[in-house]
Amino acid sequence: MSGIEERLQAVEKTIVAACDEARRPPAGVRLLAVSKTFGPDAVLAAIAAGQRAFGENYVQEGVDKIRAVAAAMTDAAPGHALEWHFIGPIQSNKTRPIAEHFGWVHTVEREKIATRLAEQRPAELPPLNVCVQVNISGEGSKSGVAPDEVAALCEAVARLPQLRLRGLMAIPEPAEDFAAQRAPFAAMRTLFDRLRERFGPDFDTLSMGMSADLRAAIVEGATVVRVGSAIFGARHYQP
Ligand SMILES: *Cc1c(COP(=O)(O)O)cnc(C)c1O
Repeated sequence: MSGIEERLQAVEKTIVAACDEARRPPAGVRLLAVSKTFGPDAVLAAIAAGQRAFGENYVQEGVDKIRAVAAAMTDAAPGHALEWHFIGPIQSNKTRPIAEHFGWVHTVEREKIATRLAEQRPAELPPLNVCVQVNISGEGSKSGVAPDEVAALCEAVARLPQLRLRGLMAIPEPAEDFAAQRAPFAAMRTLFDRLRERFGPDFDTLSMGMSADLRAAIVEGATVVRVGSAIFGARHYQP
């Protein structure tokens, strides 16, 4: 068994245990494998172990990897439907490759970015799935919209063609103890439940929790956890 396969299984076990603890069905939590800074070979190892959804933070690195993995797969194992999620900060001049190559974007925090993604999403592709990023920890973190501005941005995304509003995403400030980890996730859950009444069953995604805090995120209702280092190992560089 490869190290990646072993670690993937360990993460899946953690997810199931956290679901048990929260009395949630494990099928309600999806694992997004965050492959940033790791090469196509690491992604291919995770695919061989059954993983299908991958998250990338940097546009050029992500697009290169999507292409390399697709090419390797037509050679080796055709027919695996992969899902690529963009989870990094979005500059307005980098929206086109995101709209053309990814199936999901978790980090929409401005209407201008949403509008560009909608305009640039190729007509022959299904709508781009979008989560709005929320600045749930306030001061400390600069990414995401303030909680009281989330509804307005969701309304704007929901009106745009070629985008499908799916939910919310957050990266809370790191915290050591479990109770401190849970607090921002609980606040996200409250916000999510309120907006779900407004946007309906299509609004089904609460993207929160990473290697260090996925248990707290699942206990508070995460439907997608984004896990990098616990699967692929420590990252050695920031490209
Ligand atoms: C890097 C990253 C992750 C994964 O972080 P780990 O701590 O390695 O699990 C998750 N979400 C986002 C937005 C990231 O940038």
